[in-house]
Amino acid sequence: MPADYHIHTAYCGHARGSIDQYIESAIAQGLREIGFSDHLGRYYLTSSQRRRHRDWGMDAKKLEHYIGDLLEAKESYKGRITISIGLEVDYVEGCEALLEPILGRYSFDFILCSVHCLPRFSWNHLADYARYADTSVIYTEYFRVVRSAIGSGLFHILAHPDLIWRTIGWPACETSLPFHEIAEMTAAAKAANHVIEINTGGFRWSQENSFGYGDPFAVLLDQCGTLGIPVTLGSDAHKPEDVGRLFPELRSALRRRSITGVACFTAGRPRIEPLS
Ligand SMILES: [Zn+2]
Ligand SMILES: [Zn+2]
Repeated sequence: MPADYHIHTAYCGHARGSIDQYIESAIAQGLREIGFSDHLGRYYLTSSQRRRHRDWGMDAKKLEHYIGDLLEAKESYKGRITISIGLEVDYVEGCEALLEPILGRYSFDFILCSVHCLPRFSWNHLADYARYADTSVIYTEYFRVVRSAIGSGLFHILAHPDLIWRTIGWPACETSLPFHEIAEMTAAAKAANHVIEINTGGFRWSQENSFGYGDPFAVLLDQCGTLGIPVTLGSDAHKPEDVGRLFPELRSALRRRSITGVACFTAGRPRIEPLS
């Protein structure tokens, strides 16, 4: 398998295992490349919010150490596996000017973009919005912000767009709305030549759950295949044993949609690696 492009480390405060353990796990899975993408959250919070949300990823102050550790690993694993250095960045609309100088300070191979929180509703994780009687307004806002992230030009890969239906359930009214939003999102990604992550968490969720309205993950895969949108595979591993989880099954699912390669990045430049 080519690459797992969604890996966390102890730097984010809520993952376990050393960088070496994640790399050894990737080698044991037969991966040719591993892309680290620890959380960069908090940059948009006020100091009192930062005290409340200590587990919302890495502080920008830690970036130098994070990158230093990964550069060392790159050197010591040379010839055994390719290591790419990235981040999973929380996108918060209106805070782009805070983010740009942080990203500009370092040379990353790739930047994942995530929407974990919608400030219009509350400064909380998406899971908090499951309490809404009708979640359709959450879907509309989530995908509006996702399209804004795609259009921002700040990121290379959209991470886990499936998080919304895994987290808050299906809208009680407007039951076709998520499918419409997925179509709008993939059209925006296609127009911007933006990569979409196929997250194994979303894949597993679809295998174990059903809404009775069709499988949104299958629809996402279908549209990536039909539109020719480049994809990455991401396990979102927060522990070393999860690296490359379900990749063989995902590879078959991608091949069924005529997706035969995945995107990898070097210093922000994409290339397609075969799914062999
Ligand atoms: Zn995430
Ligand atoms: Zn993640």
